[in-house]
Formats: sequence, C-alpha cells, structure tokens
Amino acid sequence: MNAREKPAECPLLPCCDNQNMERTPAPQETRLKGIPASPGIASGPLRLFWKRAPVVEERSLDPSAIKKEDERLEKAVARSKKELGKILTFAQQKLGDAEAKIFEAQLMILDDPVLLDSIRRRIRTEQKNAEFIVYDEIEKYHRIMAAARDEYTRERAMDVEDLRNRILRNLQEEKLISRFDSASIIVSQNLSASDALILSRNEVLGYLIEIGGVTSHCALLARALKIPAVVGIHHVASMVHDGDVLLLDGYRGDVVLRPSPETVKEFEERRVKYEAFERPLAGLRRRKAETADGRRIELAANIELEEEVDFTRFQGADGIGLYRSETLLLGKEVFPSEKEQVAVYRMLADAMHPKPVTIRTFDIGGDKMMAHAIRENNPFLGWRGIRVMLDKPDLFRDQLRAILRASARKNVRVMFPMISGIKEVRRAKELLREAMEQLEHKGEPFDPKIQVGVMIEVPAAAVLAEDIATEVDFLSIGTNDLIQYLIAVDRSNEVVSALYQEFHPAVVRFLRRIIERGKAHNVKVGMCGEMAGDPLATILLLGLGLDEFSVTPKVIPEIKRIIRSVRFADARKVAERVLKFQTEEEIKEFLSRKIREMVPDAVREE
Ligand code: PEP
Ligand code: MG
Repeated sequence: MNAREKPAECPLLPCCDNQNMERTPAPQETRLKGIPASPGIASGPLRLFWKRAPVVEERSLDPSAIKKEDERLEKAVARSKKELGKILTFAQQKLGDAEAKIFEAQLMILDDPVLLDSIRRRIRTEQKNAEFIVYDEIEKYHRIMAAARDEYTRERAMDVEDLRNRILRNLQEEKLISRFDSASIIVSQNLSASDALILSRNEVLGYLIEIGGVTSHCALLARALKIPAVVGIHHVASMVHDGDVLLLDGYRGDVVLRPSPETVKEFEERRVKYEAFERPLAGLRRRKAETADGRRIELAANIELEEEVDFTRFQGADGIGLYRSETLLLGKEVFPSEKEQVAVYRMLADAMHPKPVTIRTFDIGGDKMMAHAIRENNPFLGWRGIRVMLDKPDLFRDQLRAILRASARKNVRVMFPMISGIKEVRRAKELLREAMEQLEHKGEPFDPKIQVGVMIEVPAAAVLAEDIATEVDFLSIGTNDLIQYLIAVDRSNEVVSALYQEFHPAVVRFLRRIIERGKAHNVKVGMCGEMAGDPLATILLLGLGLDEFSVTPKVIPEIKRIIRSVRFADARKVAERVLKFQTEEEIKEFLSRKIREMVPDAVREE
C-alpha cells in the first residue's frame, strides 16, 4: 500500500473507530484513543510525514534506448544499496545487530541475482521502461505477502514495498525529505522501518501512526529507540496540520490534539509519575518472576489481538496465559475458517516458542461477540462460552483442529470458558479427541499431549474444582466473571459497580478454596481475571498459593517487582490474616498497608 492510499479497515482494532471525526479538522482540543505501541509521554508540535506515492507510467522503449535504461537501473540499484548500507550501519550502531536485520534482509533482496536478472531480461524483451518493470516484478512478491493472514508476513510485505519505492525513487532521481530543524511528533498514515530510523536522526518526540499494530516495524523501532508511539487511529493525519500541538501517551494510547493548558499540565504530571515509577522496572524484564525465598511463579500475558504478541515478548512474559480467541470474530458475520484460525494460532505459538500459549476457545455471548444472535433477558446467564460451542459441535471441532494444528511444536494449551459442570468438560474433551482423530487420519502433526485447562469463572465450577481437576491439566480462575456470579452483580452495570468487589471476603475465601482443591489434585492453578494484574492483590494471591498470574502485558514488570520483593512465607501470613476479615474495606486497608511496608516503591500514584 502506498502512503496516500486509504488504509484497509481493520476489524480487529475496535479502538480505531473514529467515523464521527473523519476528515473534519477539529477546531479545539480533541481526545482520541489508539493502541499504545511504545511507552512514554510526548508533547510538542507535530510534523506530517507524507510520502508521495511513486507514480509509475508504462512506457515503450525504442530498442536503441535499452542500453541507457539498463544503465539507469544499475545506477538506481547502486544508489539504493548505498542508502541501505548507510541505514544498516546506523541501525547497527543505534539498535544492535538483531534489530538491524530487517535492513540486511532488504540488502539481500537487492543482491538477489534472480530478481535483478529477471528485471533486466524483461526490460530487454518487453522493451518497457525500468520503473514499470521494477514495479511490476517486485509487486508480485509484495501482493502475495500483503495478502497473508499473519501479521508478520504482512509486516515483511511493507519492507518489500519500501525497497521497491526506494529503487523507484532513485530511478526518478528524487530525494526524500527526511530532515527537519525542530523537535516534532511525527504523524503519518504509515511508516516503514527505514522511515522511522532515518527520521530518528532528527529530534523525534513521538510517533502517531494511523495504521499498523504494535508489531509493526515502526512500533518495534520506536520501542527500541525509546520514542513514545501510538498507532491505530485511522484518519488522524487528515485531522491535523503541520505545527499543531499534540500530546501523546504511549502507555495508555491517549492522544490529544490542540490541548488546553490544563491538559498539557495533566500530561506533564503523568510524565513525571510514569518516569519515577517505571525507572527501576526496565531492568526486570529479563529477570524471573520468583519470590525472595525462591518460589518460581509463571507470569504470563492476557492478549486479545495477535498484534500484542510482540509487546508481550518485550515485556518478558513467561507465556500467554489467555488468548481471547473470540476477538477473531470481531466485525465478522461468519466464523473464521479452520485455515484462517490456524494461521493466527500458529503465529502466536511460533512467536512465543518455546513458551506456552493458552488459547481459550471462543467465549461468545454475554456482552461479547454475537450476543445479538438471539434475544435473552439475562445474556450473562444465558447462551455463553462453552454452552454455545457445545451446541455447535462442527464449529467447535473446526476451532479445536485449528488449535491442535498450531500445537505441533508442543507449546500450545487449550482452555474452555464458562464451564459450570463436569459433563461440559467431558464433552469438550470428547470433541477434542474427535478433532485429534480427524487430524491423525489426515496425517497432520499436532501435540497429542496438549495441555487442557478450564476456566473457573462460574461458582458451580469453583465448588467442583476438585472434580474438574481430575479431568484437566490446569485451572485458570476468571475473576471477572467469578466475582459477578458469586456476588450477583453485573460486571458491566454502572449502577451496581460499587458492589463489584474484588476483595469481597467471599471472593477471597472462594479463591483459597479453588487454589487448594486444584493443587490437592496436582494441577496448576492460575488466574487470568483482571485481579491477577492488580498490584494490591499480588501478595494475597501469592500467599494463597497461585502458580500462574496472567495479566495485561503492560503491568508485567510491575507485578514482577512485587513478586520478587516478597518472601512466600510472608505472603502466606498476609493471606492467612486476610482470610479472617469480614469486609472488603478491612481487606483493602490491610493489603495497602502491607504493600507499602513490604514493597514501598510498588505503589503507583495515578
Ligand atoms: C474472566 O472472566 O475473568 C476472564 C478472564 O474472561 P473474560 O474477561 O474474557 O470474560
Ligand atoms: Mg470470563
């Protein structure tokens, strides 16, 4: 795609939906929400980075002009190589060898005799201008890669496009303006890795890019260069002008166009707080999540979008503890095919290998996708999660086969949501076995010992934890639902939100029960509900004996710091004390006191 084409709508990025603001310049402060791609706060004037799309005309050549055309091609290729060589050296110095590999790959394509010979031959035989043949020849590869289902190949397609445009620009002897004199936030529809790198020779305060996920090269490089970035706000480049002031929060994905002085102050305060808080965390990414007295905890990530996998790795996650596969249905009228699913699951498994990836089967209904399919008075108590999938065995088997096919390298786990009784577990496992038989029959490789887990998010399943534990390899507590069902308070109803209490004594005692019963049957017990990522809960959950915390990738270092700062023996004592309290207020008050005492620098001031 060239720089001025309209980006394809991305149904997987719901937060990109800015239809109401499309192409209308906002007169005053406008707040937008994007995807946080590189942490940090940026504030300053923006600079629009438009790359002119290469205009490629098809021209017939006189046979006498062929030699000259060959020379033009050689010159453009040589110039492109020189540019890329410089970028490579710059990248190696600034980012290190691993990150600079993208440019090495581009240089290798340029050195590929097959590609260049084919271009030379076509210029001669078809007697067409070099621009046309270069465009056409490289476009063949680009098209195939750009149509790929997996994000990685699509990102590589951008590199191929970037290389193609570089040769074309050099054929046309144009210069790309990449120098500017004042510090700016770059706003662009799309930015290739080399653009991001070359622009970083200026004082770039931040990047705001319309398309691309957190795995885009631009996002990767922004993180590596420690430049704050937000991606995924469609049409934003059409809403601003060069020089407009912009605020950007790469932690939360907040963007403010033309901010008021109060908002500027608010962001300045955010910056000071973030910096003070984050400074000591960066060094923890590569360290283990282990208590001060040596108890190893798995600290994994919850992800919704495949684009998050890269940031997950960057944050040092021990794996993916929950992939909410139902996001694949966003904006779709029909279920994705087995093949489409395999591509995504495999991409996740490969990206995380050898660390585990837990794929939760579609949890639809309730307030989630396809909730509109039938009318229910109480959708949260209705046709949801495993209930839907067991009623649709064909669709379920498609998904199970897709998960199995992605498991061949033995780092995939499968997990069932909304289980309320043992029969559902057995039926789901039966369908899994059937899916295995179908694959065996076709000779497709998969992991026959794939770990099977169940979410404990319905109180009935919690009561039956010991029985369910005999059927599966792991349990994962889904506090988001468990709390709403246990306290009978709708998790999405504002009116009763004060009653939705993570630290309700009944919740805490219930958690103890699930963890104890699960472990008594030798299965691992984890938690993937939001409570696992709440720093106030960490010491308590450790003390209750939780084996795995699966949290939003952003908070991994923060939770790790708490885990590493406390002794398991002390956490147990805290948990024992908490189990005796009778109100949430007492529990929270006690836990805040304890965390301040035990890990004084762990408390983030919001
Ligand atoms: C939960 O219920 O805690 C959970 C992790 O699942 P979801 O939030 O997707 O319902
Ligand atoms: Mg749930």
